Parts: sequence; structure tokens; C-alpha cells
Amino acid sequence: MAEQSGVPHSNGPDLSGKVALVTGASRGIGEATARHLAACGASVVLAARSTGDIERIAAEIGDKAAAIACDVAAFDKVADAVSHAVQRFGGLDILVNNAGVVDPVARIGESDPDAWGRAVDINLKGVYHGIRAAIPAMRQRGGGVIINISSGAATSVLEGWSHYCATKAAVLMLTRAVHLEHAGENIRCVGLSPGTVATDMQKVIKASGVNPVSKLEWSDHIPPEWPARAIGFLCTAAGRSYDGGDMSLRSADARRAVGLPVPD
Ligand code: NAP
Repeated sequence: MAEQSGVPHSNGPDLSGKVALVTGASRGIGEATARHLAACGASVVLAARSTGDIERIAAEIGDKAAAIACDVAAFDKVADAVSHAVQRFGGLDILVNNAGVVDPVARIGESDPDAWGRAVDINLKGVYHGIRAAIPAMRQRGGGVIINISSGAATSVLEGWSHYCATKAAVLMLTRAVHLEHAGENIRCVGLSPGTVATDMQKVIKASGVNPVSKLEWSDHIPPEWPARAIGFLCTAAGRSYDGGDMSLRSADARRAVGLPVPD
């Protein structure tokens, strides 16, 4: 599939020789990211629970891609995905902690404790699992970059999203913690807050009808290829100024840095 970003196509950064692992690569931002990183020359391991989808996407990308079934809530599955990248492609340079859920949307007083905890297992522990599994492999390469997909919900509260806001806020703190502890060994960590993106997650949000995000028009959302391009940018030295925090694609400066259209 060609990139369909609505942005004039320009080549992304040269990531030849790099190996990337993308969680939640079966659709949406993760799928677009896997395709973009591969188009930039990286070898890519696609991880998600929907095995048929990641196998199909990996086959479409070609020899430089591999698929591995992975529930990020389980540390051993994430560690297996990192090992797969190392065995298949020789190491790990880039980890994109993208897997995430927003459902079930519910006010705290009506929320289901098990479902709330499941969101923590995926959105927060899943990111920790990726970081914890990747660091030893990145040390072997002399460094690497970890990109955590953040959200405006990391810093703004929204009705019905307590699980999502709390986990994204915690992920931002993880980004800062990895930067504090591992930047000295050339392991970079940066968050990407993409704004609203036209993916299945926005269909779930729309169906909930709960807060102002659910009232947005589909045309308000950016295509998933835009955050994918931002992730490619963050893999380069030019992205270093965002290390230890979130780059927001709502920012005109960030859009310009990536080469995306600037918001009005
Ligand atoms: P999406 O289309 O719903 O895709 C979510 C991806 O996460 C799927 O590939 C899904 O794969 C994977 N996933 C969910 N649970 C998983 C688990 N337990 N283990 C492994 N993979 C899992 O959503 P999206 O919009 O692309 O979201 C991607 C990321 O961007 C999320 O972190 C989300 O919070 C963030 N984000 C999205 C928006 C937006 O407007 N869309 C805005 C800000 C931030 P399987 O179901 O196959 O496992």
C-alpha cells in the first residue's frame, strides 16, 4: 500500500540497517508506522494480538518485515518479540510502544474494576514491558530510541477516560524516567502526542458519545500516516530536542519539523 497521507510524498529519513519493533501494528497508527519505517529502510517486527492482520501486513511489506503474536500485557510475550527481532534481524534499535486501548469509556462511578485494570495492563504496563525488554538489546547495539505513543490525555482530563488519562499520564512519567536513567548510555526515550487520528480508536470514542472528543467530525482527525512520519523523524538525531518529553503534533513547530501541514 502506498502512503496516503495527503502530504506530498518526500522520502523519510534513511533508516537502513536499523531494526524496529512496533507494538499494536495490526491497524491504525501502528500499521502506518511499520509501513513507513520499512519504507525508510528499516527492518520491522510487527507485534499485536490479531495475528492474521500482522502477517498480512508483514507479507505486503516484504522480506524486511516479520510478524509475531503479542499481548503487551504479558511481559514474557513482549520479551519474546524483542528476542524475535534480535534473532531475525540481528538486534534492536527502535521500539515504538504504540499498543493502546480507550475502551470501555465509563465514568469512574460506573466503571468496571477489571476493565479499568486491563487498560492499565495494556496502556501502562505494556509500555513498561517494552522498555524493560528493549533496554538490554539496545545496550548490545550501543544505544537506541524508544518512542512511546502519548496523548493530550496525558495532561488534560476528559470525562469517561479516567483509565486512559491516568495511564497516558503515567507513560509520560515513564518517558521522563527512561530519559533520566538511560540517556547516558545513548538510549533515547521520547513521547509522541499525535492529536486526534482517523483510526478505529476514534470510532470507539465516537460511539461512546461521552465527551467533546466524541463530537468531533471525522474530517477533524489527521491520517495515521502523519504520526508515522513523526515517528520516523523522532528516530533521527533531529528529533533529539524532544527527548525526555512529548512531541505534540498539535504544535506548529513540531509539524514544521516533520514536514507536515501546519494547523491554522
Ligand atoms: P487502534 O486503531 O485501535 O489500534 C490499536 C492497536 O493496539 C491495534 O493494533 C491493537 O492490536 C493494539 N493492541 C491493543 N491491545 C493490545 C494488546 N493487549 N497487546 C498488543 N497490542 C494491542 O488505535 P490507534 O488510534 O492506532 O492507537 C494507537 C496508539 O495511539 C494508542 O496508544 C493510542 O492511545 C494512541 N493515540 C491515538 C489517538 C487517536 O486519535 N487515534 C490519539 C492519541 C493517541 P490487536 O487488537 O490486534 O492486539
